[in-house]
Amino acid sequence: MKKYFLFLGFLLTVMVLQAQPVTRFTVDLTKGKKGSLSVTCDVPAYQKEELVYQIPRAVQGSYSIKNFGDYIDDFRAYDHKGKRLKVSYNKQESNFRISNAKSLSRITYDVHDTWTDTKKQNYVFQPGGTYFEPGTLFCLNTFALFGYFEGFKDCPTEVHIKKETVLYCATSANISALSATDDVVKAPNYDDLQDNPMVYMRPDTVSIKVRNCRFHIAVFSRNHKITSRDILASISPVITNAFASFFSVFPTDNYTFTFLFPGWQDEALFANGTMGAMEHCKSSVYFYPETGNRDILNSFLTHVVAHEFLHILTPLSLKSEQIYNFDYRNPEASEHLWLYEGSVEYLSNIILYKDSLISDEDFWETFRQKTLYSDRYKDISMTEFGKKIFDNSDMHYYANVYNRGALVSFLLDVKINELTGGKMNLKKVLLQLNEKYKGHYFKDEVLFDEIVNLTHPDIRILINDYIVGTKELPVKEYLQKIGYRFTSEKPDSIYTFGRVSVEYDAKDKRCVVRDASPGYNAFGIDKGDVIVAVNDTLLNESNYYHNVNLIGSPGTDAEVTVRFSRKGKLMEIKNPPIRVKVTQLNFIEPEREISEEERALRKQVLGR
Ligand SMILES: [Zn+2]
Repeated sequence: MKKYFLFLGFLLTVMVLQAQPVTRFTVDLTKGKKGSLSVTCDVPAYQKEELVYQIPRAVQGSYSIKNFGDYIDDFRAYDHKGKRLKVSYNKQESNFRISNAKSLSRITYDVHDTWTDTKKQNYVFQPGGTYFEPGTLFCLNTFALFGYFEGFKDCPTEVHIKKETVLYCATSANISALSATDDVVKAPNYDDLQDNPMVYMRPDTVSIKVRNCRFHIAVFSRNHKITSRDILASISPVITNAFASFFSVFPTDNYTFTFLFPGWQDEALFANGTMGAMEHCKSSVYFYPETGNRDILNSFLTHVVAHEFLHILTPLSLKSEQIYNFDYRNPEASEHLWLYEGSVEYLSNIILYKDSLISDEDFWETFRQKTLYSDRYKDISMTEFGKKIFDNSDMHYYANVYNRGALVSFLLDVKINELTGGKMNLKKVLLQLNEKYKGHYFKDEVLFDEIVNLTHPDIRILINDYIVGTKELPVKEYLQKIGYRFTSEKPDSIYTFGRVSVEYDAKDKRCVVRDASPGYNAFGIDKGDVIVAVNDTLLNESNYYHNVNLIGSPGTDAEVTVRFSRKGKLMEIKNPPIRVKVTQLNFIEPEREISEEERALRKQVLGR
């Protein structure tokens, strides 16, 4: 009997496999023009009178409608004899309708890149977009290049890529090199295909293995100012300490960090003013201007890498139905954006702080900024806003998800620790829910019940008041619980040289004053002046940040000498700063004396 059933099972498997038609895409990077790439798709026999080829209007993680179909041009459909079939594009739906599709054999189209598309109002921010520069860099976010046939989204897909030998593909996709110039990527379904960006570049890579996961780092740096080893030096403490203490076992066994650093030559790519990073289940892509300054690099990388990687917990793993069954044409939003972005933002700061990877000052200044921001946009229900994210274009409110969303996560963490005597905390709640819903999804309406069940009935009050409701956040009271004093307006005094705003011009390799008036700073510096030296240190790309900061934020009354040039004339001025009275808003400081309860709760929440 056993054998018999096994045999039946085998037959069934074969039938299922045979029933899965494979969609085969081909792109030839050697034939790409700058800004444009041709795609060919060999279509299996779907046996439908009409087929709809859907290019996503939106994807997970970006929370806005981008209509990637708008970047497609010269779309053609052919039958087996090479005869063209009738096609119509529906701009509203971002899809192509192909008639007489039973005879469809192949589609071809050109894709324009998003990075250089500065005309489109709804600009695609670069880590989630495309860029084609033959022989140098191809940023292939697959959802902007390839679509799926409606009704066949779960069918396997292959992408064949022809490339120049010198280019290497940074990706966590299931990729194999057929030869030095041919790669093939296989994806079990469209969800998997679109979640794995492929970035072709000249190789500069390094990897480290921590526990069960190998972390790959790939870097494109236009003027070779940043190497993969620089990045590794910056982020390896985050990986080996903070990530490793958060996850006892990593949810993936390979993860790719792809860093793209265009240089000063690529000014147009920054014209929109956006930069940032985008997360995926097994990778994240970063887009920032190239800098040779390690201080700047370290300061933003630590934060952004921690945030993007923690998304592996939510929403990439712990997610609601709307994200699990993502509708690329008519995306539905989940009300738990506060969880996906706010809790990730809070926890990423906490793990860095617990492992001393950011300073006390950095942690509390970030916290303070969040209180200032959320004070300005407080009439918002986090859940209501989350539900409307695809209709809402107000970026101020969107940014509040990272501010109020992080602060409500802090309140939750403190309260959960307090009510459970430290047995539970926000991290444990999310990890346990993640375990429960592994490979599945939760319904939006059950999440709060789940959190209450894992913690304490009183947590519901907090949720209703501050996540669902719009009550003013009791940040002061909660900081007091962990022995910190919050003062909304605190009179203070600081040293200052006055207002001088300086930018490093990487092209001409000099520090240019972008904003200043001679009467409003101690050195008489004017807009357009070039700062040559501070306290006898000649400025260059790697030291200017620290030295210019001696003018921007003098911590003491020490005199500073500035040498600067104006229209070719060199000047040197030495002056002490002046002391001015200021009012510090939302000032946070540790209490000098704290109770045993406060100390215990502080240790549970902050780890120190
Ligand atoms: Zn995020």
